[in-house]
Amino acid sequence: MKIGIDIGGSHIAAGIVNEEGKIIDKEEKDIYLGEVAETEERAEEIIIATITSEIDNLLKKNNYTKSDISKIGIATPGNPSATNLRNLVNMKIKDFNIVDELKKTYNTTIKVKNDGKCSGLAEKKYGVLRGYEDCIYLCLGTGVGSAVFLKNKLLTPKLNTGFELGHMIIDKNGERCNCGNRGCFETFASIKRFRERAIKAFDLPKDCIAEEVQQYIRKNIESENVKIFIDEYIENVAVGVANLINIFEPEAIAFGGSFSYYDDIFMPKLKKQVEKYLFNKQTKYKLLVGQLKNDAGIVGAAEL
Ligand SMILES: [Zn+2]
Repeated sequence: MKIGIDIGGSHIAAGIVNEEGKIIDKEEKDIYLGEVAETEERAEEIIIATITSEIDNLLKKNNYTKSDISKIGIATPGNPSATNLRNLVNMKIKDFNIVDELKKTYNTTIKVKNDGKCSGLAEKKYGVLRGYEDCIYLCLGTGVGSAVFLKNKLLTPKLNTGFELGHMIIDKNGERCNCGNRGCFETFASIKRFRERAIKAFDLPKDCIAEEVQQYIRKNIESENVKIFIDEYIENVAVGVANLINIFEPEAIAFGGSFSYYDDIFMPKLKKQVEKYLFNKQTKYKLLVGQLKNDAGIVGAAEL
């Protein structure tokens, strides 16, 4: 039996995943690590305590024991190695060997991978990217996660996570990115920035959550200001997407993360805008919406 874990800035989830890539049972807990942990040691303790309690609950509820676990996969933001969480700036973690720590409790194979890559693997094997040999997964949410497949293989460099498509620089004088550079694709395309800009542009309350911003936009979709705002966002996303098509010539690009909650509004406009920037106008490609939604990280992690 396989277990997938998804560690995020605001929650940690664990799920039992079957051979068809379906989550049989899931445990989730909202934790804002950056706020509740004062030190890296404390953040590490909280992560381990949360994961072990979630796994133990899953085992109990489903009549399994620890020895039934064939593997555990962990999806994490940042730049993990095969064993360590690394560079989780917003979660107080610099470098943490989570595999050694979990092995004290679970005597099984445990692997770690970047969450964008895990979600991409899930969409490629079980979701909307199935059947496409050359394809890209882009998760537009808090940041921009990404995975590139050529000839069915996830492209993986030797040293780091690589293929950080969110950090290609679109405008060197643009807004500051979390990575320190200016004008990364992420600063234009992430739904977090979209939300922040919408709050400013439409004078919404500062603590407006994503759902409220979405409600406002849907309610005022015919207003000229909202149209201009969305067109500007999509224009910038299109520049990044066209760059990716020009570089990789994928057969398909799938969009995941909160971007997919706006798919009926965004996708038709995006398809039109991308065409303008294509180097090779004969290029054939599809722009798709991810199928696995929030489960992609867990499902992909269980595949590691
Ligand atoms: Zn960046």
